[in-house]
Amino acid sequence: MFITPHTSAAIWVSTKVSDPFLAFIFSLLSHFILDMVPHGDDNLAEDKKGKEKFLYLLNVASIDMVVSCALVYFYVISHQGINHWVLFWAVFGAWLPDLAWIVIESFRLTSLYWYIVYHAKLHNIFSWQYSIVYGVPFQILVTLTLVKISF
Ligand SMILES: [Zn+2]
Repeated sequence: MFITPHTSAAIWVSTKVSDPFLAFIFSLLSHFILDMVPHGDDNLAEDKKGKEKFLYLLNVASIDMVVSCALVYFYVISHQGINHWVLFWAVFGAWLPDLAWIVIESFRLTSLYWYIVYHAKLHNIFSWQYSIVYGVPFQILVTLTLVKISF
């Protein structure tokens, strides 16, 4: 799942708890729960190979991060009196599972490969895959729903 729906879940979590540690834990859990929902991006860039695939995924990830950061930015500037530490730890908890995955794979931390297997298993828990054509609108809908109940 793109990081934007995870970020919107983190923002929602930050509206529900006032303890940074709980915000982190609940956001971390929200990441794994959202990943379990079939979300249509399993075969992203499967028609591309090598450098082309890498650059395509880098572009998608960059746009995803910009949208996520914009979401947090607009939430912060439109809400006074929010606890920034709660929001920070919520967002960190929501991002950590994918950040860990990227770091483990990039630095080939083989002793932690079990985590990548676990993360991938969660994605396929319902073993139902569908096209990105439906995946992107679905993820936008999840994001908008979470933004609507948070803002
Ligand atoms: Zn994930």
